[in-house]
Amino acid sequence: MVELWKKVLTKLEGEVSRPNLVTWLKPCQITNQRPGLVTITVPTIYAKDWIEKNALGKIKSILKEELGKIDDITLVIGRPAASDTALKDLPLLERPEDETDDDKPETPNPLNQNYTFETFVVGNNNRLAFAASQAVAEKPGQAYNPLFLYGGVGLGKTHLMQAIGNEIHRHSPKKKIIFTSCENFTSEFIAALQNKTINEFKKKYRTVDVFLIDDIQFLSNKEGTQEEFFHTFNMLHQSNRQIVITADRMPHEMAGLEDRLTSRFGWGMIADIQTPNFETRVAILQSKAQEKGLDIPDATMEFIANTVTSNVRELEGSLIKLSAAAKLDGVPMTREFASRTLKDIIRSGHTEVTYRQVIQAVAKHFDTEISDILGNKRTKELVYPRQVVMYFLREFLHQSYPQIGEILGGKDHTTIMHGVNKITLARKKDAAVEADLNTIQEKLGQK
Ligand code: ADP
Ligand code: MG
Repeated sequence: MVELWKKVLTKLEGEVSRPNLVTWLKPCQITNQRPGLVTITVPTIYAKDWIEKNALGKIKSILKEELGKIDDITLVIGRPAASDTALKDLPLLERPEDETDDDKPETPNPLNQNYTFETFVVGNNNRLAFAASQAVAEKPGQAYNPLFLYGGVGLGKTHLMQAIGNEIHRHSPKKKIIFTSCENFTSEFIAALQNKTINEFKKKYRTVDVFLIDDIQFLSNKEGTQEEFFHTFNMLHQSNRQIVITADRMPHEMAGLEDRLTSRFGWGMIADIQTPNFETRVAILQSKAQEKGLDIPDATMEFIANTVTSNVRELEGSLIKLSAAAKLDGVPMTREFASRTLKDIIRSGHTEVTYRQVIQAVAKHFDTEISDILGNKRTKELVYPRQVVMYFLREFLHQSYPQIGEILGGKDHTTIMHGVNKITLARKKDAAVEADLNTIQEKLGQK
């Protein structure tokens, strides 16, 4: 039966594209064969779907040629024993995993050299993500694949992802590493379609050893790019190439992303990064000050750490701003100086909230799932909470309508505008709405 499937694969070579062959057909196996009846075991429901839609007819006619008569082919989902899969010694398909790094030239490091594990401060908020990243860097393709890192804005996702790449480059300089933002991947894909260079595009992404893709949430509602990413993912994953993905939320909270993708994101390890606590914020400030050769009194550091609480990028920005201003004025960086200089980023009385917190608070208040709020179902129970989220993102986070649209899974800015206006009006007229909003606002510390 192994021989028979091998023959089928060889004959299918000209009929389906190589990536499709490798992704969908390579892992299958004929597990039962009786006169007129053949059972093929396929690894996943996705493979079954794909084969039924795209290859079953061809497989049937090939089997007919080989066996004379075919009444029925059954596809069952299961895991064929590894030793039985036909592809091991199929000569027509070179198996990329058999290449060794020795054959390759050294590749230049495409990453930001400042983002390393050494410069990353570990606290309770990021310990798991850090440990998982180190494990992946040590044994790419073997520890966790994919590694999915998620967390709010400015909390160190890109830093950690680049640290993985830097570390791999350090110990294996011949490995081909690609770091790309999801937006960049999308625009390259579109350009490749327009310029008819899609084969080069595919080759570029499907032959890397380490694929680092940042901010995957921007894949929402981009069906074509999702399809391409899906195949890239499968190719790489199947040949044990390391994939690292970051996002601003958990896979199942990403609306506008196909289930077959979000389910794959959970195949390896999912690790979150939370906001750092006070001690970690101070430690980060100390490390950044040292990096930049700045001498800052402890009291000033503590003042900054108490003031800027939800975003490490802003924490770092405050430090730079402060030191620049002190230099300009020729004064020491005292706590008082810091308090005067940084006043524009201190919103007095208001603690900063992130949009994640807004969505969480609203979902909790209305007892709905976050994924439903981010989704597209238009029942009354969901439309109202969704519009409340839009309203808060506009009122308190001062996001633009298109930005809010992106956050809510790729909705049109006119939908957002409509939602915000509706709640603004309702708040004035409807006591129940006013009460809802007040309760949520209180929970968010915005009252
Ligand atoms: P994200 O990708 O999550 O939005 P970044 O990785 O771009 O955030 O981080 C923003 C800035 O904060 C970067 O300059 C990064 O070096 C710094 N940073 C974030 N977390 C840490 C940390 N734990 N230790 C040191 N620097 C950090
Ligand atoms: Mg980032």
